[in-house]
Amino acid sequence: MSTDDESPDNLRKLPLPVAQLRPKESALYSVTVQRDVEFCDHARATVDDVARTVRCAACKALLDPMDRLIRMAKDYDRRRRDYDNLVTEIKAQRERIAMLERMETNARARLRRLGVPRLEDWQLDQLIKREADGK
Ligand SMILES: [Zn+2]
Repeated sequence: MSTDDESPDNLRKLPLPVAQLRPKESALYSVTVQRDVEFCDHARATVDDVARTVRCAACKALLDPMDRLIRMAKDYDRRRRDYDNLVTEIKAQRERIAMLERMETNARARLRRLGVPRLEDWQLDQLIKREADGK
């Protein structure tokens, strides 16, 4: 093997950069996005009640007050729906807990009628664990 560019660590430089050797793969990544200005979604706003203007708290851009009001109303509606859904979910889970407590009471009563001595909670937990483990 005769090369005119031998390096001390026994490596040879490729004649072309890797990207030029694989044009199809490099074409997949040929688009780069450049922004001159950082993107700002104007999430927080400040209201100037004297000048009657609304500005973005981050980028200080002047915002349309009506757009801001509509955005706040939509945000409030979304949060209100989320809250209502959570309240409904909490109510459903409380009903489920009450049903499970009734089932536990009934199961304890059945065990008592069958002559099984009253189990303490830790004993019941052990039984349940043993049942779950399949022992
Ligand atoms: Zn902004």
